[in-house]
Amino acid sequence: MRFVFTPEQERYAARIRAFAEERIAPYYQEGDRTGEMRPGLVGELAGQGLLGLRVPTGHGGLGADCVTTGAALEELARADFNACYGVLQAALIADVLNGNATDEQRRRWLPPIASGEALVALCLTEPAHGSDAAAIELRAEPDGDGWRLTGVKTSIMLGAYATHGLVFARTGGPGARGVTAFYLPLDDRHLTRTRTRDAGGRAAGRAELRFDGLPAGPEDVVGGEGLGFVQVMRGFDYSRALISLMCVGAANASLEEALAHARTREAFGGPIGRLQGVAFPLAEHAAYLRAARLLAYEALWLKDQGREHAVPANMAKAWAPKAAVEACHQALLTFGQLGWSEELPLAQRMRDVMGLEIGDGTAQVTRLVVARHLLGRRYAP
Ligand SMILES: Cc1cc2nc3c(=O)[nH]c(=O)nc-3n(C[C@H](O)[C@H](O)[C@H](O)COP(=O)(O)OP(=O)(O)OC[C@H]3O[C@@H](n4cnc5c(N)ncnc54)[C@H](O)[C@@H]3O)c2cc1C
Repeated sequence: MRFVFTPEQERYAARIRAFAEERIAPYYQEGDRTGEMRPGLVGELAGQGLLGLRVPTGHGGLGADCVTTGAALEELARADFNACYGVLQAALIADVLNGNATDEQRRRWLPPIASGEALVALCLTEPAHGSDAAAIELRAEPDGDGWRLTGVKTSIMLGAYATHGLVFARTGGPGARGVTAFYLPLDDRHLTRTRTRDAGGRAAGRAELRFDGLPAGPEDVVGGEGLGFVQVMRGFDYSRALISLMCVGAANASLEEALAHARTREAFGGPIGRLQGVAFPLAEHAAYLRAARLLAYEALWLKDQGREHAVPANMAKAWAPKAAVEACHQALLTFGQLGWSEELPLAQRMRDVMGLEIGDGTAQVTRLVVARHLLGRRYAP
């Protein structure tokens, strides 16, 4: 058993850490205040290869393995949790497209994702259907040799900015087998976007998308009619491990700031770090984050080996966001009144990370996946 990155993984993670500290971290709090994604961010992420991590080299990407992708997100999240969404969605969607599209579609779709020309969003959740995603209702009605999409997608991260969406629509009967995935341009007069006002993740442009007869052709179908749901659910296993590492990265940034503060802040005649009431909670949260991190990397490593990874990926997602929120909270408290001020990024990190206790599958839903694997499918509700 080897608990180390390869030299290439180590080098890339170090490069992303240096880039993120210099170019990304200085704007983290500004994004929260303005509620806007910084112009130029997408180009800078693309310039580091971050949008093409899971795009094969033949299509203009880095063709990175999953562990490297996780390491890049962990580093980026230390600097700016919200800057990760573009990288996360590109990694998830490029993986789904690469695994399910035709050669011609891959040539058409993947290079713009890697270059940042296409900013992609995952369009699954609807106002009436979130956890029970197989019940989605957005209709794809036959029109000539294609379809027209009508209905509402909600809670779409990057929805305010994305140029393209992996959109799940009902082409057939009820249930998972009636759902088809389409990869579509979103800048179209048949689509309107409304931003949501959120407690966190404010610079990532979560939005509702209203489809009013958006045209889709057979060349836009990913994988095949009626296969959309199965494809995205497979992709979710891996993105859940990536999200876990985002949460761990952000929480570790707060924890390190708290440790530094505990070394220098004095109370009752010495640094507060010597008080066990201060030091032990930090030690405890560091242990939880370390365990969650290992679980996430185990899932990514298993996927890189072509092995089953659903159980550790869903265990990680059930736990890491909560562990991260609690670590962010403890770090904030360690700063006393200073932590409560928006001068420091501690409260923002807690709010930002909390969103992913919900996004991409709640802790309950990820536990359902784990329980189904442990108990067997016949015990699924
Ligand atoms: C920050 C953020 C980013 C997001 N990004 C995207 C995105 O990019 N694209 C997208 O399509 N969606 C996105 N979402 C939506 C997200 O995936 C859904 O919110 C999530 O799947 C839960 O669905 P829901 O909100 O409708 O809650 P519901 O499904 O209504 O669930 C409500 C509560 O009931 C619980 N519950 C539901 N079913 C069960 C069960 N069987 N057993 C036990 N408990 C259960 C849930 O855990 C939850 O606590 C995002 C959400 C957030 C907050």
